[in-house]
Amino acid sequence: SIQMQGLHKRFGKDTVALNGVDLDIEAGEFFTLLGPSGCGKTTMLRILAGLEEADDGRLTIGGKDVTEVPPHHRSVNTVFQSYALFPHLSVRENLAFGLKMRGVPQAQREEKVAEIAHFIHLGDLIDRRIDQLSGGQKQRIALARALVCEPDVLLLDEPLSALDAGLRSQLQVELLRVQKRLGMTFVFVTHDQDEAMVMSDRIAVLNGGNIQQVGAPRDVYERPANAFVARFMGHDN
Ligand code: ATP
Repeated sequence: SIQMQGLHKRFGKDTVALNGVDLDIEAGEFFTLLGPSGCGKTTMLRILAGLEEADDGRLTIGGKDVTEVPPHHRSVNTVFQSYALFPHLSVRENLAFGLKMRGVPQAQREEKVAEIAHFIHLGDLIDRRIDQLSGGQKQRIALARALVCEPDVLLLDEPLSALDAGLRSQLQVELLRVQKRLGMTFVFVTHDQDEAMVMSDRIAVLNGGNIQQVGAPRDVYERPANAFVARFMGHDN
């Protein structure tokens, strides 16, 4: 599980990205951070990943205070919207890269890559170069690369937002299947309330660095805590 207590983050003098966030995310949960542009979603993910340090507050992952723990020693992995793949390398090489960085020996790397390729149904994409793939294919590879290291927690920052509607709903189904099957904790960022409704066990609605409401999507939709949540969940449309 993940526990955030009083997390504060400001940039410069005037920008408060997180304004004292208290939030518990259960192990094995599909948890979504939902809110308008600039509300602090990405900042929260970056603090969980260890890419950014909070100014104040406490963060534990799996019961362990991770404030001093560098990114690659947290059992957390991230899928970014921008894929962050190596374009001139093959899919296989991209998948093996993170394992190599973690010192996994070659025979074991090959085994793990084959396993995940089978699980995500990569088929003959495995020997293609990244720059020969479509956007949706790249997104699946980015997911596969994050999963191959078997993190306890996967952070996903708008991983589907660049895709067209058809591909998007196809990958929504695939993401849910993978998450349920592996029993991993997913922390998913989106500004799309429909996507949050379909995917999530629970959601947190953020605005201006503050959590407005946390709950099951249907409860938040049916019983919004305030006018902002009601509007954001589409009550005035
Ligand atoms: P979006 O949906 O547009 O990605 P977000 O909810 O992820 O937005 P954040 O990226 O967390 O929002 O940004 C929260 C606030 O912090 C914004 O006002 C943003 O401009 C500011 N901010 C984020 N990163 C930095 C940075 N490195 N330097 C200065 N300001 C930053």
